[in-house]
Amino acid sequence: MRELLSLLFSISFLACSAQQVVIKSETNTLKKPKNIILFIGDGTGLSQISASQFFNENPSNFDRFPVIGLIKTSASNSLITDSAAAATAFASGIKTYNGAIGVNVDSTAVPTIVEIVSEKGLSTGLVSTSSITHATPACFYAHTKSRGLEEDIASFLVASEIDFFAGGGLNFFKHRSDGKDLIRVLENNGFSIDTTSLKMAPANKHGFLLANGGMPKMLNGRGDFLPNATQMAIEQLSQNKQGFFLMVEGSQIDWGGHANDADYLISELIDFDNAIGIALDFADQNGETLVIVTADHETGGFTLANDGGDYNKIKATFSTNGHSATMVPVFAKGPGADLFGGIYENTRIYHKMMELLNR
Ligand code: MG
Ligand code: ZN
Repeated sequence: MRELLSLLFSISFLACSAQQVVIKSETNTLKKPKNIILFIGDGTGLSQISASQFFNENPSNFDRFPVIGLIKTSASNSLITDSAAAATAFASGIKTYNGAIGVNVDSTAVPTIVEIVSEKGLSTGLVSTSSITHATPACFYAHTKSRGLEEDIASFLVASEIDFFAGGGLNFFKHRSDGKDLIRVLENNGFSIDTTSLKMAPANKHGFLLANGGMPKMLNGRGDFLPNATQMAIEQLSQNKQGFFLMVEGSQIDWGGHANDADYLISELIDFDNAIGIALDFADQNGETLVIVTADHETGGFTLANDGGDYNKIKATFSTNGHSATMVPVFAKGPGADLFGGIYENTRIYHKMMELLNR
């Protein structure tokens, strides 16, 4: 009798714990983040990321991600994408042609994640080390046939619902061919605009345009602009109880790749890594924030080769001045991160984010 009782007890205990497991995994699947921070390392393939293991004095923040995926990056009209087609895939979920900013193959405007979530009451922000009107950030708020139309792109930014931005590109707002002063317009729209330093003024919306074109290189003394701007964006946007979407771009990792300049590339990569650390620290204590890190494409055909047969020496080498077709990694941490494992098209990044923000 005692044996039977104890058997019954263990069966019911097993049944009970099995049920608990199911319930737990269901809540895990259903858990959605309140906030998403999307990092785009322009031109950042696996060798670029590996450089952060070998050339960074500090432990790499990439090591903190539990979920890793790979994306296929082709554009609609070519095997190898540019930053515009790739960022349109992330921002709007469609494949389009190289050079397209927020438009489809017929040059028709497609809604962006920034436009959609703004309407749902979320706050939105963009940070880049290029001009804020450059291809990658532009695809999140503008719709132009060509990435070169940076004055038009600036006009889209002014008309957008974006709440925080930081980067370069002052010329496209201030010294324009149509003579308009878009800084004035932004200020009339409630923005505090700073063109000299990253300092938070008392206002609900902040814009920082700290260079005429792209921001200076790390090698030329840019300092902690990217991590600091990321921190300030999070501080402002997290005031919104409804949540926020923030995109942060390490723009010049790509430029180091185009220049086949390993020191340029690696210094930009380490800066990007530091900015990721800021977001992960926030997300870890916030608990409702998903951090995603990915790239639009790889640049330079960058390789950490052996140096003349010496397996104890790494020689950074390049195979092209342009982009390559290699798949690029996706890293995710936080509620919903599990969705980002596997191999899939770059457009899925958008659809996964929208699934998670649809609540
Ligand atoms: Mg870019
Ligand atoms: Zn490029």
